[in-house]
Amino acid sequence: MAGEPQTDCLFCKIVSGDIPATFVRESETTVAFRDINPQAPTHILVIPRVHYPDAASLAAAEPQIAADVLREAGQVAADEKIEANGYRVVFNTGAGAGQTVFHAHAHVLGGRGLNWPPG
Ligand code: 5GP
Ligand code: ZN
Repeated sequence: MAGEPQTDCLFCKIVSGDIPATFVRESETTVAFRDINPQAPTHILVIPRVHYPDAASLAAAEPQIAADVLREAGQVAADEKIEANGYRVVFNTGAGAGQTVFHAHAHVLGGRGLNWPPG
């Protein structure tokens, strides 16, 4: 059922604690942890505790939780002190755009120069 934990989902297992991660923030509806393969000095993933396969389906079903993810992304940037030089919040959506984990997540990237478009 939409929003229910998925037994085969890596990020559901991180939410439940079955797979360890380096958590940096938690809220009632979200968790944030360091990416295992960082692409920038700061690379943190902010995810909803509930399972939706991507950001759009999360926003359609649970708009308040989607807003919570964006708020927490901003808080991560403040905590990491990457705001002054700019940072990026990315939702890869679909395999063609590089999405590999099909549990909605925001990448928060900063701490180095970031080119646009990303390629
Ligand atoms: P996507 O490619 O789906 O947008 O992003 C998935 C991200 O999850 C990747 O940046 C990848 O490095 C990260 N990732 C994959 N497996 C793990 C894991 O077990 N732990 C953590 N912390 N990050 C992971
Ligand atoms: Zn999941």
